[in-house]
Amino acid sequence: MRARVIEEECIGDGTCVDECPEVFEMRDDGLAHVIADPVPPEAEEKCRSACENCPVDAIELEE
Ligand code: SF4
Repeated sequence: MRARVIEEECIGDGTCVDECPEVFEMRDDGLAHVIADPVPPEAEEKCRSACENCPVDAIELEE
């Protein structure tokens, strides 16, 4: 699975980093970035949860 943050949509609230720090990190630009590509199998469930809970649907997942 691969994850992508749509930078134009991200509002930088950090929900995805709280839910799945294995895959997302906040950077100085105030946006979340993907740090694991592909997503490690053991982090997939948390990554899906992060995607579902992003308040602006800024995370895309590719299975
Ligand atoms: S949860 Fe969504 S809006 Fe919040 S930092 Fe992550 S990608 Fe950005």
